Amino acid sequence: MSSKKSDLVIVYHRQPYEEVMENGKLVRRENKSPNGIVPTLKSFFGHVDQGSWIAWKEAEDPARPDFEKVVEITDAYGDYRVSRLALSKEQVRSFYHVTSKEALWPVLHAFRERYNYDPVDWPTFREVNYAFAQAAAQEASDDATIWVHDYNLWLVPEYLRQMKPNARIGFFHHTPFPGPDVFNVLPWRREIVGSLLKCDVVGFHIPRFAQNFAAVCESMFDIEAIERTTLDLDDIRMRPALSELKSPTCVVYNGRRVHTVATPVGIDVNYIEDCVNDAQTADLEKRIEEELAGKRLLLSVGRTDYTKGGAELLDTYERLLERRPELHGQVRLMFVSVAANNGMAAYEQVQQDIESRAGGINARFATFDWQPVHLISTPIPFRELAAFYRKADVCWITPLADGLNLIAKEFVAARSDGDGVLVLSEFAGVAVELPHSVLCNPFSARSMDHTIDQALDMPENERRERMSAMREVTSGHTIADWADDLRAAIAAVTGPGEQPAFAKILKSA
Ligand code: UDP
Repeated sequence: MSSKKSDLVIVYHRQPYEEVMENGKLVRRENKSPNGIVPTLKSFFGHVDQGSWIAWKEAEDPARPDFEKVVEITDAYGDYRVSRLALSKEQVRSFYHVTSKEALWPVLHAFRERYNYDPVDWPTFREVNYAFAQAAAQEASDDATIWVHDYNLWLVPEYLRQMKPNARIGFFHHTPFPGPDVFNVLPWRREIVGSLLKCDVVGFHIPRFAQNFAAVCESMFDIEAIERTTLDLDDIRMRPALSELKSPTCVVYNGRRVHTVATPVGIDVNYIEDCVNDAQTADLEKRIEEELAGKRLLLSVGRTDYTKGGAELLDTYERLLERRPELHGQVRLMFVSVAANNGMAAYEQVQQDIESRAGGINARFATFDWQPVHLISTPIPFRELAAFYRKADVCWITPLADGLNLIAKEFVAARSDGDGVLVLSEFAGVAVELPHSVLCNPFSARSMDHTIDQALDMPENERRERMSAMREVTSGHTIADWADDLRAAIAAVTGPGEQPAFAKILKSA
């Protein structure tokens, strides 16, 4: 194994492959995740001599794990090392399922009432973050670039800066970032933000989240300056609730410049096209068409999470069937809500709620040959999902809060036929990129009712115009462009380059 220190270290809580048992042996397989974040991050390794990835792996006794801590991987992305941090079951529960999911997640999504402080064990959160930082420092050269991903590793930059004062540290948020009224509910706010201010680059999906971050910084630290760039967004109709006219580019604190970058994760358009052109997808499309027998398909896909607004969507569907009896027997809702498998009471409650609403609608409206809702709780492999995207008349995505929402982009990318309507919540980050969707407000029953009617009644030429505008956006800013933006942002910290600007993404909208 190469003992050379790495120029690039990626800190992401998941390992960059799937581990599965085959004939009693643990084997590693390429991730099947279609959203492409893991392969994209791995593609960063193609630009450096030596790269490392830090993730956790559960061990019965973390002091003596029953696996090799550091493994050398060779795959399509080259050779790199994976350092697996051994965590006990209890550490994983406390750091991930309790602190991250019960306290931090609800606050990030502005559900203050769901924030649960009592079971949090902050020393364990610190200890796990410290261990991640240590593992990263062990792998990194003194001036390495270290990319840390997501809020469960918020304290890593602070510890890393002590261990590697000359490293370039970047941190990307895959979630929303709220303003101070909400964020400051967290009692550990100064520690978290103080850590983020030790980064060279802090990244977000959209300018609003970067603005919120700047406002949070100002609410608790004596910030010297906030530099902003004006976005080129002159059409007022193109401004969903999450849009901003300015985006911060730098927060100056203690003489240090912390660059902020807003760049939404893109999708792997080539991979999706590949799926779409596959003979198996065509077969499945044919089967779906036969099964639908002329009925219109409404498709909703997401994880079972209170942030995704599943209950509100099902209530809207029930009102639709109540209001428009002519649709009985003519529409079908395929509601994919992938159940979390973590035993958390909050998620079990959401799952029960969805099951009881879906059951209620079927009980009320179903006939011998028509079932109005099909609730699916297990994940659908992406290649199959692609066929459903292509056969859906309406893709109905209405989260109450969402960092981005890749389903919306995947739906658009799958529609090479140019048809299909996307109804999208204004409170999903992706709405800023896709103002040509039918934007709805999931907090308003009237808006939900109006927009589903609009989608069902939309003439074909309008559907095609909107889809064509949205397809330009998804192919104009792909996962590779996102990766380029992150690399450019780090390069601009010390070099003469410019920070990437969200304005160029909006230009194509
Ligand atoms: N997904 C899937 N099968 C399913 C449901 C979801 O493969 O049955 C994938 C989907 O293609 C997407 C991801 O899961 O890439 C969900 O990403 P998104 O940003 O929409 O939501 P998140 O779960 O990250 O909040």
